[in-house]
Amino acid sequence: MTTLLITHAYILTMDDHQREIPDGGLFVRDGFLEQVGPTGELPSTADEVLDLTGHLVLPGLVNTHHHFYQTLTRAIPAAQDANLFNWLTTLYPIWARMNPDDIFTSAQTALVELALSGCTTASDHLYLFPNGSKLDDEIAAAQEIGLRLQASRGSMSLGQSQGGLPPDSVVDSEDSILKDSQRLIQKYHDPNPGAFVQIVLAPCSPFSVTSDLMKQSAKLARVYGVHLHTHLAETEDEEQFCLQRFGHRPVGYMQEVDWVGNDVWFAHAVWVNQEEIAVFAKHNCGVAHCPTSNMRLASGIAPVKEYRAAGVNVGLGVDGSASNDGSHLLAEVRNAMLVSRVKEGLTGYSLSNDPDRKLMTAREALHLGTRGGAAILGRTDIGSLEPGKCADFFAIDLNRIGFTGMHDLVAAVVFGQPVNADYTVVGGKFVVKERQLCTVDEGRLIEKHNKAARRLLEA
Ligand SMILES: [Zn+2]
Repeated sequence: MTTLLITHAYILTMDDHQREIPDGGLFVRDGFLEQVGPTGELPSTADEVLDLTGHLVLPGLVNTHHHFYQTLTRAIPAAQDANLFNWLTTLYPIWARMNPDDIFTSAQTALVELALSGCTTASDHLYLFPNGSKLDDEIAAAQEIGLRLQASRGSMSLGQSQGGLPPDSVVDSEDSILKDSQRLIQKYHDPNPGAFVQIVLAPCSPFSVTSDLMKQSAKLARVYGVHLHTHLAETEDEEQFCLQRFGHRPVGYMQEVDWVGNDVWFAHAVWVNQEEIAVFAKHNCGVAHCPTSNMRLASGIAPVKEYRAAGVNVGLGVDGSASNDGSHLLAEVRNAMLVSRVKEGLTGYSLSNDPDRKLMTAREALHLGTRGGAAILGRTDIGSLEPGKCADFFAIDLNRIGFTGMHDLVAAVVFGQPVNADYTVVGGKFVVKERQLCTVDEGRLIEKHNKAARRLLEA
């Protein structure tokens, strides 16, 4: 039995009552929150006591879409200023050179960046397995770093010779994909509260996967009760691809292959119409909104306000580090708020006198990054600071130059320049403490990662 006591912080609970507790604290036992409340009402001692006077404590952020391996190919000149399809065709051959150690190292890098930005649960979508790489490589990386991982077993089965986008050298046979998916579920998937590893089945996208693999993956996932994830409606050229190849727009195609339900969440979902939003709402599909990536690749702006008005759960994702080119989830919260306001501006906000037309607030953006993310991953044990939930949280010291003069402590961390966390705690264990990583040597990781990144481009 181990206990941890946090005292004298400003606590943003993100509970159903949106409770905020000045001079609040947390009492943690064996990885779970036992009490959340004013410091004066909590036990006075624990195995470890941390006074967080002057800090804001928030529920750990939940990342709902990423490709860890892409930290190896950030800001490659030929892919810096391209749209999605050209960006992908530039990078596929480079990614094809990765080995298992590259997958492990890049996953550690991405997870470290995420942890430093306040993330405690990360979903990752690995859909390339070159040179003997396996999803196991990134699971091992996450276990060492100490973050919770929704490991998505991605796949590509539709190569160029079959009319797909990726070269044939990076696609696999459907039989081997399904067998490996089943192996991973049996080996790693933990359905219990407090799980550190869960498996997700995640064929990559309409333009890199056959319809048959989509259907078979959905069947297999539902046998085991694991979630399904894919890219959808990211760009207009994907929409054209779907119309030409499948005779459906992307969302219609998902209905066709039985990919709707509360066990499905889609990355991006930018190019959708009102009827398609209603389809998501009716079937409880989730959306991973990736604002930075959508801006970086000039993909568009997802209709987040419309999704939320329709009752669709929306979480945030940093997306792959080659389309961002960072993994700072708190920065994503900020960009979600800002880009939603850009969309308002483009649709007549300044001319509107409608008092019900509201801009996305800092707290709403934080809701997307916490409760929203937990909901689309199907996890009820994370996303808020409430008794019984996982002890996953991060703390930011507000005594920083960038937060001077801020009159709202919660809004400060979203309206202000994104900063790194001072403390990140997952399941009651420190991953970041006093702005330093506790689980790996950051300097050594940087060196190893840069060496691997250089080798990929030299090959
Ligand atoms: Zn992606």
